[in-house]
Amino acid sequence: MDLDNTVLEHGECPRTSGAKALKPSKVVGADASVTSVKLRKRTKSKKTVKPKKYERGTRSYTMSRIRGKDTKIEVLVRSYLFRRGLRFRKNDKRYPGRPDVVLPRYRTIVFVNGCFWHMHEGCSKFSMPKSNVEFWTAKLVRNHERDIRQRAELEGDGWRVLVVWECELTVKLREERLERLYREIVGEDDSGDVGAESAGDLPVLV
Ligand SMILES: [Zn+2]
Repeated sequence: MDLDNTVLEHGECPRTSGAKALKPSKVVGADASVTSVKLRKRTKSKKTVKPKKYERGTRSYTMSRIRGKDTKIEVLVRSYLFRRGLRFRKNDKRYPGRPDVVLPRYRTIVFVNGCFWHMHEGCSKFSMPKSNVEFWTAKLVRNHERDIRQRAELEGDGWRVLVVWECELTVKLREERLERLYREIVGEDDSGDVGAESAGDLPVLV
C-alpha cells in the first residue's frame, strides 16, 4: 500500500511550526549551543507523534499517524502467512500499488487495506471526517480510484488480487479471516472451485 501522504508530511502539517515554537528561546552559558541542539532534537521527535492539527483521540489524529508501510495490520498478515509456510515479496516496487504481499508461486497479490484510507464501503470504520471535508473527500477518493486502477492493471497482467480489510482483523475475527486468506491463496477455498490451472500447479495434497 503506497499511500499519498505527501500533503500530510510536507504540506500544511503543523509539525514544523510546532517544533519551532517549542525551540528553547533563552540559552545562556558556554554550553549553550550544545544544549540547544539536544533540546531541539528531543522536542522535534516528540512532535512527530503529536501533530497539533488533530486533537488526540479523534480519528483524524489516529489516522495521521499511520504510515504507508509496515502498519500493524500488514505485519499481522505477513507473519501469519509466513508461519503457514508461504514465502513472498513485500511492498514490491515493480508492481502497481507496491502490493503488501506478492506470492509469485500462486500468482497472487494481497493488499492489506486500512478501512479509512481505502474507503471501505459500508464499513463502520469508515466515515468521511466532518471537518476539512473537501480535503478529505478529494484525498480519499483519489486513493480509492487509484486502488481500482491498480487492481485492474494487476488483473490485466494475470494476477489474482485479494484484499484483507482492517475491520476483518480485529482480535475476534482475525483467526478465521487469516485462515480463509491462506486457503484462498493456496486454492483450498470452501467453494471447492479450484480451477484446473491452479490445481495443476499444486503439489499433491494428502
Ligand atoms: Zn472495514
